[in-house]
Amino acid sequence: MSARSGASREEVRRFDLDHLWHPFTQMAEYAKSEPLVVERAEGNCLIDDQGRRLFDATSALWCNLLGHRVPEIDRAVVEQLGRVAHSTLLGATHPTAAELARRLAEIAPAGLDRVFFSDNGATAVEAALKIAFQYRLLTQGPEAAAASVFLSLEDGYHGDTLGAAAVGGVALFHETFRPLLLQTLKAPAPYCYRCPLGKVCESCAMDCAAQLEATLERERGRVLAVVLEPGIQAAAGMIVHPPGYLTRVAEACRRHRALLILDEVATGFGRTGTLFACQQEGVVPDLLCLAKGLTGGYLPVAATLTREAIYQVFLGPYHEYRHFFHGHTYTGNPLGCAAALATLRLLAESRAVESVGEKARMLRQALELVARHPRVGDLRQLGLMCGIELVADRASKARFPPGDRVGHQLCLAMRRHGIYARPLGDIVVLMPPLSSTEAELGHLARSLHAVLLERFGA
Ligand code: PMP
Repeated sequence: MSARSGASREEVRRFDLDHLWHPFTQMAEYAKSEPLVVERAEGNCLIDDQGRRLFDATSALWCNLLGHRVPEIDRAVVEQLGRVAHSTLLGATHPTAAELARRLAEIAPAGLDRVFFSDNGATAVEAALKIAFQYRLLTQGPEAAAASVFLSLEDGYHGDTLGAAAVGGVALFHETFRPLLLQTLKAPAPYCYRCPLGKVCESCAMDCAAQLEATLERERGRVLAVVLEPGIQAAAGMIVHPPGYLTRVAEACRRHRALLILDEVATGFGRTGTLFACQQEGVVPDLLCLAKGLTGGYLPVAATLTREAIYQVFLGPYHEYRHFFHGHTYTGNPLGCAAALATLRLLAESRAVESVGEKARMLRQALELVARHPRVGDLRQLGLMCGIELVADRASKARFPPGDRVGHQLCLAMRRHGIYARPLGDIVVLMPPLSSTEAELGHLARSLHAVLLERFGA
């Protein structure tokens, strides 16, 4: 019997199969599988309907930071429930959102003092795109705005709403909807393992950055904003950028008066070893998109931060209609804001972000045998974000036939070792929470090595 709804395990399975449509899931395959049914969680582990404990190497799809049922976050949400669960931010406010906005302005890279709330990563990006567009409209007029265009990276991922997908570039996710999407310009991803420009690291002067610069040059001010994930393109398979790439993009944006929109939905709140990934190169964007970890992985709250000078352009008498016509019902939800405030307090007190460097080293060391396995072509890592690219042949970097679903099979096998992980194609993704212990990271790495041996031998 499930503790939650009173439905039996069999009923849960039937209700799920009969009525639930799962995201990013081939339901025909899912219906034949033995799905993970999470009933509860403790610390960094999920507990399924049969009482099995699984270390969650996905951090609840990249959002959990400090584990589950963290007493301080639980308490903050419960206390907020005792005041109000939800009220609107449209022309009104509430103390928790106001305090969270102040706190975000305090911890964000200098100058990002204005906070626009929404509820997930895609909406944070969507708001950034529309703010950038309206800013150009208000500062340069309708003709310049109509002629303007966004520039983003091949293999970028910014969410699934149409605007966010338009600046995305992961063929598998976005191609289906291409006819619906706004036209955007693309620059090659700095994917050094499979360089789209055919370069090799040793002799490369970062030609991918040069191409982005050349596009900005060629477009002569038409690019209103450059959008990218700083440091690492997560959903493309943990593509770690070479040091200095972000700095070059930021400088090019400044030279060509394009706004810089950084999507830190996945990288934000410590995953990469600094609170925000852009801080590793001292880059301050014009717009910063945050979501996922903002509430510790508890509730859907997102934020788009910008500079006061951009915000000021939207001010004026009502009848000029300069205000930002955009928003959502649950924008700045008080329960989510309470969870976020508690998370930020804990991050500061526990020095969890400061511990990421050391934990990342432990993980990398623990993965040494994995890295040496002949079916591992590349092991990429930035902080606690890690991608292990599996290949059929190391020398030629040949991929496995997609139908073999090697990444998926390995992740399924890891469940028998008490690990929950998800791949991106044949890239096994490990993104353990900041609260992971040395023992858990070691177990994670050993489990991956064990399933590699089970499947392919030594
Ligand atoms: N941007 C990035 C960098 C992401 O990794 C994701 C989600 N994986 C998103 C945006 C979209 O976030 P959400 O799923 O909350 O809409």
